[in-house]
Amino acid sequence: MAQQSDDSSRAKTGENLDVLVSTQTVIKKALDKLGYPEQVFELLKEPLRVMHVRIPIRMDDGTVKVFTGYRAQHNDAVGPTKGGVRFHPDVTESEVKALSIWMSLKAGIVDLPYGGGKGGIICDPRQMSFRELERLSRGYVRAISQIVGPTKDIPAPDVFTNSQIMAWMMDEYSRIREFDSPGFITGKPLVLGGSRGRETATAKGVTLMVREAAKKRDISLNGARVVIQGFGNAGSFLAKFMSDSGAKVIGISDAYGALHDDEGLDIDYLLDRRDSFGTVTNLFKETISNQELLELDCDILVPAAVENQITAANAHKIKAKIVVEAANGPTTLDATRILSERGVLLVPDVLASAGGVTVSYFEWVQNNQGYYWSEEEVEAKLEEIMVKSFENVYRTSQTRKVDMRLAAYMVGVRKMAEASRFRGWV
Ligand code: NAD
Repeated sequence: MAQQSDDSSRAKTGENLDVLVSTQTVIKKALDKLGYPEQVFELLKEPLRVMHVRIPIRMDDGTVKVFTGYRAQHNDAVGPTKGGVRFHPDVTESEVKALSIWMSLKAGIVDLPYGGGKGGIICDPRQMSFRELERLSRGYVRAISQIVGPTKDIPAPDVFTNSQIMAWMMDEYSRIREFDSPGFITGKPLVLGGSRGRETATAKGVTLMVREAAKKRDISLNGARVVIQGFGNAGSFLAKFMSDSGAKVIGISDAYGALHDDEGLDIDYLLDRRDSFGTVTNLFKETISNQELLELDCDILVPAAVENQITAANAHKIKAKIVVEAANGPTTLDATRILSERGVLLVPDVLASAGGVTVSYFEWVQNNQGYYWSEEEVEAKLEEIMVKSFENVYRTSQTRKVDMRLAAYMVGVRKMAEASRFRGWV
């Protein structure tokens, strides 16, 4: 997760691990390449709005605990802001800001009528009861209700939040507004206006990005050796889709360790045994560390857990030919440069994990229309958008002779900058 203080945000190699600083660095480069003046960077380097809330919650033992939460709205020139809510002990204001900026970039890359938003609460849902989580989810919505809404800012799930939490949040918002508001939040259960295909959308999108990247490197997915860090919503479904497409998933991990088998892991078995927080390795004796997992000999590596996993300290040891970032911010800027210099094709987070927000957009459209699509329809539309976006970013990287991350930022930032200019903001 992001770290704020200068001391704690520097790796042993001296590189800065603050994800807000690194995203600002790439935004500046992208705007310079595109020829925008300094004032555009001044506008886009930070969110327009960040709300800091304190939420008192009655715990099951009768005591009251006060939780800290945030909601950041990066830029709403294009349309309402949109982005997930993360429940995690390491959430920081700086991280939430960076995540909201990445959401703006994603919306720009896949061409959705949104700006970026993000929320987070400092808490550990693994240590909380079902009812405590319900009270916290409802308390958060009451605290931020003035600045969110179906045409203002639309939340969604992220790390350690799920469709049940979205359902409580939607119910609370509908009570406050006194009308049913399914378009307030996405990632809901199907019966409450969720979209078919939303649960697996991020993993589907990442699978498409792996497929397109493999084509560029002439790697056949059939038999390709794949390593995935993280076995939650993104990582576990991705493992399933990869093994269904004939690839060999030789390594997976969670927060507590990693599993490795050169012959390929039994993904259906692991899916069956993982808990709702994406934990499965605690059931096994023979585990390796997350660092060892990242350095395994493989064709395709997908970080699908947390930030700052591939750094200047281990980028030289990565053996994969393709790295596709399902997680937000898993590779530092120094590591990006090292991987590029070594000829590794890196598909950046702002492109690779945009499948989630794309189907969240489909969910919002369906809620607004009151008309619901089939899973085939959702998947066909998702594929069209993701493949077109990959080609656009890949072409930009080739013609402008920049790495895929900078190319993705150039594509992502342009729409926001143009919308802000037409509105007369810059
Ligand atoms: P999740 O909570 O469902 O799963 C997270 C997984 O990462 C779990 O297996 C957990 O054990 C593991 N993990 C946590 N801390 C770890 C650590 N320090 N080292 C190794 N593993 C660790 O979360 P998710 O929804 O799958 O999200 C994973 C990443 O993908 C995040 O960066 C998230 O922002 C990004 N993402 C998710 C979506 C989505 O729709 N779910 C969309 C876009 C991006």
